[in-house]
Amino acid sequence: MATASFDTAGRAARPVSPIEKAPEVTALATLPGRKRSLVGLTRADLKQALLDIGVAERETRMRVSQLWHWIYVRGAREFSEMTNVGKGLKAQLAERFTLERPEIVSEQVSRDGTRKWLLRMAPTGAHDHNRGAEIECVYIPGDDRGTLCVSSQVGCTLTCSFCHTGTQRLVRNLSTAEIVSQLVVARDALGDFAGQMPSKDGGGEVGRLVTNIVFMGMGEPLYNLDAVIDAVSVMSDQEGLALSRRRITVSTSGIVPQIERLGLEANAMLAISLHAVRDDLRDELVPLNRKYPIAQLLEVCRNYPGVSNARRITFEYVMLKGVNDSDADARALVRLLKGIPAKINLIPFNPWPGSKYECSDWERIDRFSEIVFNAGYASPVRTPRGRDILAACGQLKSETEKMRARARMLMEEGLGAEGFYAGGED
Ligand code: SAH
Ligand code: SF4
Repeated sequence: MATASFDTAGRAARPVSPIEKAPEVTALATLPGRKRSLVGLTRADLKQALLDIGVAERETRMRVSQLWHWIYVRGAREFSEMTNVGKGLKAQLAERFTLERPEIVSEQVSRDGTRKWLLRMAPTGAHDHNRGAEIECVYIPGDDRGTLCVSSQVGCTLTCSFCHTGTQRLVRNLSTAEIVSQLVVARDALGDFAGQMPSKDGGGEVGRLVTNIVFMGMGEPLYNLDAVIDAVSVMSDQEGLALSRRRITVSTSGIVPQIERLGLEANAMLAISLHAVRDDLRDELVPLNRKYPIAQLLEVCRNYPGVSNARRITFEYVMLKGVNDSDADARALVRLLKGIPAKINLIPFNPWPGSKYECSDWERIDRFSEIVFNAGYASPVRTPRGRDILAACGQLKSETEKMRARARMLMEEGLGAEGFYAGGED
């Protein structure tokens, strides 16, 4: 495999892959002429929406609370459901706004219960060809929790060499509402809003199924930090979606200057995609390392606001056969993390069509995790989930993008794309 070379002389001679492909784009909230959905908005944006339709300032506090409850606790889909909102206001709201969610284009359910949704966002303009960007979102049920893996961007500008999302061309930031809507859609689909689940008192309990959020879908959350901070605040609002911030984990490839702000303003749990213990190898796997090398990254981790043994940082380590999985790597990993309250999460590499790596053998992963465990770290190996539906980490890439790539390939081969589009995906 021509991936990992520890020979620094050779390294200088190798062509260097770009760290980033293109700057990310922030889309317009709503296209002119389209009604705006109130789903996913912050309290401040809801207030502004009410002021825009002429609700008096002194009334907005109460009205925001009502809308908040209907949207985030009850999962209302129509303004007409809002029994404590007057008829006149309901009509005004319906005239200017909607409660639309992103459209579920497809749902795949794995044999192990994992569900993957392909969601189409409302169109935002030319950069998503006026048809709405598509992103993926995955629900992973567990014994004592249900984890929703959300996306923060369409695609990713970074170019980690083992990640499928990083090969996607189209990139834009998701808005706060588009991030929050992923949780709303999941609760809709799972029947996880109040009143949808039967319970003893008949009222239903909110959020029994989705209990945890991980920002481990498409995109680099710290390149869209404003929206991520607001999304965490909406998702963790105790009068609404009511997730605990301790159950919201933001994973980053290591945007060093943004990490402290994530801690201070989102107060979310931090996961770092480390994957290598030496700069020469990490430069290759996570090219952003050339900008923010390991020592700098670990320094900000040591100072992450609120870090303690009760609030540890998760270090993700993808197991790549013959690349980063030796006993020496495991020992170096343990030495490197000394003094940082840490958990180590070993992720079996998920191959995707065209990827140049292989997943380490199970015996190797076992041995690696034993070394880490003996050094005092809990080192759960992330069980591959939803593999049969390509729902695992690093495999998320939108269908449109895949279709375009296929269509391009067919065109390059002189076969034309129409038949493919007409026939649909295989
Ligand atoms: N951009 C952020 C979050 C999204 S990626 C980040 O990089 O942290 C979520 C996790 O999946 C990261 O740890 C990433 O390194 C890992 N990952 C990416 N591609 C993978 C693959 N093919 N197999 C296993 N894990 C992968
Ligand atoms: Fe982007 Fe994360 Fe994939 Fe790297 S691993 S390309 S940062 S999504």
